[in-house]
Amino acid sequence: MIRDYQTQKTLREDYDVCIIGAGPAGITLALHLAKAGWRVLLAEAGGHEYSPRSQAFYHCTSTGLEMYPQETRLRYLGGTSNHWAGRCRPFTPSDFAVAPPGNLPGWPIPYSDIEPYLAPAMAIVDLPEGADFQPLNTALAGGDFDPDRFLLSPPTRFAQKYASALADTAGLDVFINCNCVDLEFDPASGRLAAVVLSDYERQRQRLVARHFILATGAIENARQLLNSQSLRAAGVVAQDGLVGHCLMEHLNVDMGTFILKDGQNGEPREYYTTDAFVAEYQAGKGNVAATVLSEVRTYGRTAEVKHFLESLMCDMGWASKIDFIAKFSCPGDGVLSTMIEQYPNTQSRISLLDEKDDLGMYRVNVNWALSAGDRHTIQCIGGELAKQFAETGLGFIKLNDYVYDTALPLKLSPHAHHMGTTRMAAAKEFGVVDSDCKVFGTDNLYVAGSSIFATGGASNPTMPLLQFALRLADHLDNRMKAAHGAHV
Ligand SMILES: Cc1cc2nc3c(=O)[nH]c(=O)nc-3n(C[C@H](O)[C@H](O)[C@H](O)COP(=O)(O)OP(=O)(O)OC[C@H]3O[C@@H](n4cnc5c(N)ncnc54)[C@H](O)[C@@H]3O)c2cc1C
Repeated sequence: MIRDYQTQKTLREDYDVCIIGAGPAGITLALHLAKAGWRVLLAEAGGHEYSPRSQAFYHCTSTGLEMYPQETRLRYLGGTSNHWAGRCRPFTPSDFAVAPPGNLPGWPIPYSDIEPYLAPAMAIVDLPEGADFQPLNTALAGGDFDPDRFLLSPPTRFAQKYASALADTAGLDVFINCNCVDLEFDPASGRLAAVVLSDYERQRQRLVARHFILATGAIENARQLLNSQSLRAAGVVAQDGLVGHCLMEHLNVDMGTFILKDGQNGEPREYYTTDAFVAEYQAGKGNVAATVLSEVRTYGRTAEVKHFLESLMCDMGWASKIDFIAKFSCPGDGVLSTMIEQYPNTQSRISLLDEKDDLGMYRVNVNWALSAGDRHTIQCIGGELAKQFAETGLGFIKLNDYVYDTALPLKLSPHAHHMGTTRMAAAKEFGVVDSDCKVFGTDNLYVAGSSIFATGGASNPTMPLLQFALRLADHLDNRMKAAHGAHV
């Protein structure tokens, strides 16, 4: 049943699981746990539709690279799935086997732990049963770039698709306009005793449950933990801990432009770094999409114009203007866009501001920052791609100078994939949640969503985060069966 918390505040006293946030992660968990027979509360801060009032609670400041944290999240039923694009690319075994450079470990679990949940996660986002992630084109000879493999969800809008399931599933209570504003930790038992829920008129009440799951997106999951005074007092959220740190994105770097040689077809090409590339260059992973803007057959004439302008510029000593020439959208020109892995680094982080929102929660600052390792990845992908384009006779790439000169500022944009702020690790010194997605130092507080990613590879996060949500649902189901026996 879906109720509006502004007007109906009657809560049960015996929920098995309380889930905060009804985006893809929260909705998936709620339906699976309720269908398994448990009493579930799903608390969603927003309403059925977008509203400026709810969205305003996502307001934050930014001190790092621009990540557009206000625009790239939606705070209402269905969460950011209300405008996601539906691109799905699964993680692979090497995402879990290869640790990032530096002092932080990679995943504490093998890929095989989430592999069984791939087919169910695909079904959730309406990918056809049995659909394979087929290569989209041929590999680029040289061994560094395979064809990429991804599928497109319609894209699934979770609130619409699962509307009747949310309304009708026995044991599930969904409350909209229901904001979680505090997490109350009991140090004596090591358990989260309650969450504090609030409507928009600041009417608060405590909600007790056996288990709690934060599923509010990567920025808010960290914000919830950082805001909790009782978690801080108990040292669960420690001053020198990793809550909010290691914020990762996928990097869309404007690599430069390319032209194809005569005779090459202008079909879009999608490449993905091979495991051999990652091992040889000690670099991260990445997708490169090479798209010809218009007809390739006009290549010859374009070349003459380009050569003429290029010679003119050089003759006149305006070599610096060559960049300008390369950015002409001539027929046959191609653009390169990317989705490149960002390594976890502790400087890239969410932290609390002094300012509170209208419901009494501290707002956050987002400091999205890259590391030297990320510049290395970009440089290696750009350089090797350009080399292999030329060596295989495919065409020529003109890289932007900041790709190979790492002293120059990068031109890049984010992909709206927020990850890593409550990273999974084998021990508290390296992360926030353990391999069951349970917050270190607590017995019953779990986190769902891409904030748990130890590394983000270059795979879109939503389908993998659903695999983790399904795995967490199984874990809790088994744990509760073992502890409490019978279902409701
Ligand atoms: C333009 C765009 C395109 C994208 N395209 C893709 C794509 O092609 N492929 C892909 O894999 N990913 C894509 N993404 C990312 C994708 O949308 C997210 O990975 C996904 O929505 C995350 O799901 P989630 O459930 O973890 O979080 P969200 O979807 O962010 O859901 C969090 C929920 O928590 C609620 N909430 C927040 N605070 C509170 C609170 N205090 N109390 C109660 N509830 C709260 C919110 O209202 C929201 O409903 C895209 C994102 C954007 C912005």
